[in-house]
Amino acid sequence: MTIDHQACDFAIYGILGDLSRRKLLPALYQLDREGLLHDDTRIIGIARHDLNRQSFLDHIREGLHRFIKEDLDNDVVNRLLARMHYLLVNLDVPDEYSRIKTFADQKKRLLINYFSVAPFLFGDICSGLAHAGIIEPSTRVVLEKPIGRDLASSREINDIVAKYFSETQIYRIDHYLGKETVMNLLALRFANSIFTTNWDHNTIDHVQITVAEEVRVGSRWGYFDKSGQLRDMVQNHLMQILTLVAMEPPVNLHDDSLRNEKLKVLKALRPITHDNIDDMVVRGQYGRGYIRGNEVPGYLEEAGGNPASTTETFVAIRVDIDNWRWADVPFYLRTGKAMATKRSEVVIHFKRLPHNIFADSYQNLPPNKLIIRLQPDEGVEIEMLNKVPGIGQGLQLQRTMLDLSFCEAFNNSRIADAYERLLLDIMQGRQALFIHREEVERSWQWIDSIQNGWQQSHEPPKTYPAGSWGPVASVALLARDDREWEE
Ligand code: NAP
Repeated sequence: MTIDHQACDFAIYGILGDLSRRKLLPALYQLDREGLLHDDTRIIGIARHDLNRQSFLDHIREGLHRFIKEDLDNDVVNRLLARMHYLLVNLDVPDEYSRIKTFADQKKRLLINYFSVAPFLFGDICSGLAHAGIIEPSTRVVLEKPIGRDLASSREINDIVAKYFSETQIYRIDHYLGKETVMNLLALRFANSIFTTNWDHNTIDHVQITVAEEVRVGSRWGYFDKSGQLRDMVQNHLMQILTLVAMEPPVNLHDDSLRNEKLKVLKALRPITHDNIDDMVVRGQYGRGYIRGNEVPGYLEEAGGNPASTTETFVAIRVDIDNWRWADVPFYLRTGKAMATKRSEVVIHFKRLPHNIFADSYQNLPPNKLIIRLQPDEGVEIEMLNKVPGIGQGLQLQRTMLDLSFCEAFNNSRIADAYERLLLDIMQGRQALFIHREEVERSWQWIDSIQNGWQQSHEPPKTYPAGSWGPVASVALLARDDREWEE
């Protein structure tokens, strides 16, 4: 592998937190293992605890062992630890940022600031960096989700950061955009003529996007209850998948080409308001049920839960995109917690054929489906009809799958975690896979309208048994259109 970026100081604010330990440090380990970190790159861990270097490194080493599933290469671990430096900075004390300045001034080069802390601290960090005189035109900042909980609060966060940094310095993360299979959507759509020419209302009947989680809310109850599944999953991850499936071909893969096309889709979403919400959206909350054979409590019975909560743990939405390509082609989105299994996929349902010449043996020809499995077992399947071999029984047809499992097709090679790609892109200064401010705000605007519709309707969420595919009303949402969910 060759390095095509300069050495940098990569500062992680909140180095002792969950995201750093579970995702960022393992990703940095993998990049170092692949030879993708510049030899001279330093990683600066920032937190507010008084740790000496040895206990800091012990903590990092323990985290790597805990969160990386494969056997660790000790040489790589030692190389990574040698890059790591700990700075004690209380993020709400502006004078303490001078420690970062002193450290950065030793080398005076590209400084990347990864805010792996709650968003209410973003403003403090930006003003602290400015107070210490650290910000240069080359300085980059990385913002973790959630960027707000509605349009107003997302604007507030974006405004504060914009006081100190221009849009070209800001990298907003949605880790779904770093997933190998989500990226493969681009390859599938724009590198294969069979799909580029069959990707609109002429050939596609509808699209389903499912992000089902088997996990319950559990110990995250207090945090989750303030947001709910619509804000936590749809506003970011599902909207990003939707825009990649629906966008027009970008002229290239450069930063703004991709982001502009996604933004156009967001602008074309038909609003869902109080007037049409009952026909377009189903919200659910899991009740008591069984997951993998074990009885589990309902959302309202979880430890620390408030039995009067009306926060949704499931949402299904019919989305209409009012543009030429997608006229009369609904996109059905569905996501939930405590569902039957963990599965994320996009299913493209093609139109029925206009006439059936096999009616004698097969009365109802099912349309083709393209299934893009995002997780687990990443891959692509095409469901099609084939003739059953043989000469005795007339012309018999049978559904068969063309199945491409990435893991098998690419010799069981390891599929990189989303954060590995994203961290590398940040170091390389590529913004294409990061969310532009306008995208965040457009998406919140659309989500807010649904949230307002719910508030006005006073309808509680529909209960579904934990371990199922959601409330019956979600089945009815598609049945009304004479369609059914892929299960
Ligand atoms: P976390 O475990 O609570 O970590 C946040 C860290 O920030 C803690 O170590 C905390 O230190 C530190 N901190 C808080 N106030 C501070 C201050 N004034 N000065 C210095 N350090 C301070 O949270 P997280 O799960 O890592 O999440 C971080 C961000 O990433 C959040 O915005 C979250 O929404 C987002 N995110 C997380 C995940 C994930 O998988 N965890 C996924 C996607 C997005 P103390 O220990 O001293 O309090």
